[in-house]
Amino acid sequence: MTSTAHPTTFPSTRLLIGGEQVDGAGPPERILDPATGGVIASVPEASAEQLEAAVAAAGAAFDGWSRTTPAHRSGALLEIAAHIDAEADAYAELESLNTGKPLRAMRADEMPSISDVFRFFAGAVRVQTGPVAGEYVPGHTSMIRRDPIGVVGSIAPWNYPLMMAAWKLAPALAAGNTVVLKPSEQTPLTVLKLAGALRDLLPKGVVNVICGRGETVGAPLVAHPHVRMVSLTGDVATGQKVLAAAAGNLKRTHLELGGKAPVIIFEDADLEAVAEGMRVYGFYNAGQDCTAACRLYVAASVYDRLVEAVTQAVRTLKVGTQKDPSVTMGPVISADQCARVSGFVERAAANRHVTVTTGGRAREGGGFFYEPTVIAGARQEDEIVRREVFGPVITLTRFTEADQAIRWANDSEYGLASSVWTRDVSKAMQVASRLQYGCTWINTHFSMAREMPHGGFKRSGYGKDLSMYSLEDYTVPRHVMVKL
Ligand code: NAD
Repeated sequence: MTSTAHPTTFPSTRLLIGGEQVDGAGPPERILDPATGGVIASVPEASAEQLEAAVAAAGAAFDGWSRTTPAHRSGALLEIAAHIDAEADAYAELESLNTGKPLRAMRADEMPSISDVFRFFAGAVRVQTGPVAGEYVPGHTSMIRRDPIGVVGSIAPWNYPLMMAAWKLAPALAAGNTVVLKPSEQTPLTVLKLAGALRDLLPKGVVNVICGRGETVGAPLVAHPHVRMVSLTGDVATGQKVLAAAAGNLKRTHLELGGKAPVIIFEDADLEAVAEGMRVYGFYNAGQDCTAACRLYVAASVYDRLVEAVTQAVRTLKVGTQKDPSVTMGPVISADQCARVSGFVERAAANRHVTVTTGGRAREGGGFFYEPTVIAGARQEDEIVRREVFGPVITLTRFTEADQAIRWANDSEYGLASSVWTRDVSKAMQVASRLQYGCTWINTHFSMAREMPHGGFKRSGYGKDLSMYSLEDYTVPRHVMVKL
């Protein structure tokens, strides 16, 4: 391993427990720059005692925090948003170093939306709605409360480290819960920087940040009897483990798991827009996105033209390191991830019906770079069409009628995101109504709104991130009845 130049501000590696920033007492985890494979920092895991202390601090803070007014919590969230905006460049630089994301995209796309998550929930918690209070039983007045759940254990993945932390922290805090947050062991640096600010912006114990691997720190956090809810964004297999562990004391779970987004392209679609859309929405974040446009079903009459157009568009992606402003795609997160993507593509390419029209290789030299890859001729039963690759790879499959495309799109264990491309609004709406996905975009893909829910069906999990629905997930509706 070579070492890498440090970012402008040397990253904090300290945990946040009960309002104190402390060094983890467990074994160190090396944090890498995916563009070079070099070590950026070493972050010690939380020990079992530190995990215990973090849950206890969150438990002790709950009584006070849960009884603050929505306006008070809203004010705190707005301060967090203002801090993130003020430090946006430093966060962007650190996140881009730790994940390999192009710095320009990190600044322009992610940072404004991360602070806006806190702003959205700061507003949302002040305008919650519910059924009308009234005398539903004669002589008794009934009313609904929405109360927080308690200590929430939040576990985040490596693909959007700070954004996933925001999606989990903002609704949980707005609702009046306290949190123990565990970032991915591979990408803790921006969350540890945020921890330094949260120490000053929130009462002690309201947010605690502990680092470490899934088995050593994540699993005991999930199993802890004083953690009342677990929110996970991660792999399906991790979701299954979390569910099994949560069954012990029946805690509430909120699971955002994998995806394999189908993209249905009809013969009357704007093919230029489709090709450009696939270049952007299939390869953003090097395809490491649970909503990435990756599984294309294309009408037979335009199939050959679209294979050519998508291939040409994808060839224009520029792969490279974070700070080069002309770079549009960075490395994947790790050597393991690169090997995983290579394995999928090699197995797909071994099928005689498949053609790799561009890419298909890891890049030689340092870092974990995989070429943007287009696979034509893939069939519904192929592994590359069925399993989540989570890398810069898209497939094209030819269909002959709409019903077949809809059937194939729904024939998946996943149910997170999908899109339909056609100039016929009525057809688009009919297809959208039949797709079993948490989101369907029409003539676009990928864009999210803080006001709208994100979350899936089937093995993509359940529970919503963003929107009022997320605030509902982090609260319990309660009935209070008064005898008159
Ligand atoms: P992962 O499941 O390996 O890890 C996610 C988090 O879970 C990490 O913090 C990890 O330490 C922790 N973890 C692992 N094992 C655990 C256990 N037994 N108990 C408790 N915690 C445990 O996932 P990843 O590789 O970091 O992220 C990629 C996956 O996340 C992909 O499958 C992707 O589709 C999914 N993802 C889903 C969404 C969504 O919104 N649905 C968003 C982003 C990523």
